[in-house]
Amino acid sequence: MIPEQVENLIGGKRVPARGGEWLEKVRPADETLLCRIARSGADDVEDAVAAARAAQPDWADRTAVSRGDVMREFALLLRERREEASAIVMEETGKPEELAFGETDAAVEMGLFIAGEGRRSYGRTTTASMEHRTVLTMRQPLGVAALVMSFNTPLPNVAWKAFPALFCGNAAVVKPSEHTPASATFFAELALEAGVPPGALNVVQGLGDEAGASLVAHPDVDLVSFTGSARTGRAINEVAARRLAKTCLELGGKNALVVCDDADLDNAVRWALASAFSNAGQRCASASRIVVLDPVYDEFRQRLLEAAGPLAPQPVISRESLERILDALGEAREAGATVLTGGERLDRPGWYLAPTVVERAAPDASISRTELFGPVTVLYRTGSLDEAITLVNDSPYGLTAAIHTASVHRAMRFAERVQAGVVVVNAGTHGSEPHMGFGGVKDSGTGWREAGIESLDVYSDSKVVNLVVDPAKA
Ligand code: NAD
Repeated sequence: MIPEQVENLIGGKRVPARGGEWLEKVRPADETLLCRIARSGADDVEDAVAAARAAQPDWADRTAVSRGDVMREFALLLRERREEASAIVMEETGKPEELAFGETDAAVEMGLFIAGEGRRSYGRTTTASMEHRTVLTMRQPLGVAALVMSFNTPLPNVAWKAFPALFCGNAAVVKPSEHTPASATFFAELALEAGVPPGALNVVQGLGDEAGASLVAHPDVDLVSFTGSARTGRAINEVAARRLAKTCLELGGKNALVVCDDADLDNAVRWALASAFSNAGQRCASASRIVVLDPVYDEFRQRLLEAAGPLAPQPVISRESLERILDALGEAREAGATVLTGGERLDRPGWYLAPTVVERAAPDASISRTELFGPVTVLYRTGSLDEAITLVNDSPYGLTAAIHTASVHRAMRFAERVQAGVVVVNAGTHGSEPHMGFGGVKDSGTGWREAGIESLDVYSDSKVVNLVVDPAKA
């Protein structure tokens, strides 16, 4: 299913990198070689951007209804091929079947939601101060979009960007993560099969600081839409800002789940585990901090540890990632934190770390402020809800947050005061559904929202049309 060599997809054709070089992609679950991927450079990016530029005007000339119809075919084809798509994701990431299928289905739903916009892209009309005029807004495509993304949920990551980018009449060049090359190519080849014209959706494989950097710096790229770490996002923003390109950044999180003393503790434990450890903690919305009010701290801690022990570990994406997480845990121990469970590499092939719970880390310690993107969560004890809110907000990030409480008053106080783009009451620090805007504040992003109709604002410009309806009287 995954070819031995994953090439680029440019102008509708599979092509190797011009330099003829390849990178090795290894399975996280057992460290065996999965495939080789094209190691692309500036020449390959040049070809892909040129193909996108050439394809874009005709694609944009189609009606929104027609582009929506193609998006529907595309989404339905992905649904038809969901087993294949999920199997590719499982091989690339080592994640369990249940997650891989769930993610494929989420990508399909995003496509169906966007397809519906073909007949529902409501705009605005407004008044004019001068007589005999009417004023309306229309959406315009931007041109060529660079879509650069993380590995963690590879199909939703590309779907959240490609469906709205294409629907809005743009052409795009995708630079998938070097850790998940095959799912992006599979996705783009389905697009062709579904009727997206050759060149409208291209894929350039390779490394971030080679293919990715060339793409972001390309003068003919009108929009950069990026999902990944704050560090890379900052670098991308600096490059794109030089030519004033529109830039949408969806970045990391150090999401907190707060447990109040009136919470249903069974429910809180269940959601804390799912939030912290699902997908080996490699979720931008993962609960890497759990803040518990003093009266229930000890009981919550005990129940959490009992339930975390038997969880099946899932691999992290790479050796580098595992080593980075283990180093961070070592540093935390040296700074006085205690690892209550997990914390060691498992004695088996693959990049496995058992679900890890840390305690007694200072709020300003590195482990409290740095996103580890692994199965690690830190427990904090606080005296009151206000103290908890202060602790939650004392973070460079502001993506998602959750509170467990029986009190509407506490829930609303938290929702109002917490610095986050998404707040959840009595469930997990999870992401979003296709019809809900998703994004964060502070280092978690630049204020754009992905998914939902908000995503159309990322991939289009709004043009005001000021129309004199009766020139004779104007
Ligand atoms: P990363 O920043 O290392 O890489 C993301 C992508 O950027 C990859 O495709 C990579 O090749 C590319 N890249 C790296 N350097 C580049 C450069 N100089 N120029 C252009 N492209 C470059 O992130 P990652 O490790 O793949 O993903 C983890 C991060 O993604 C976490 O911080 C996580 O929270 C974040 N994330 C955020 C969201 C969200 O919606 N906010 C969703 C998923 C993941």
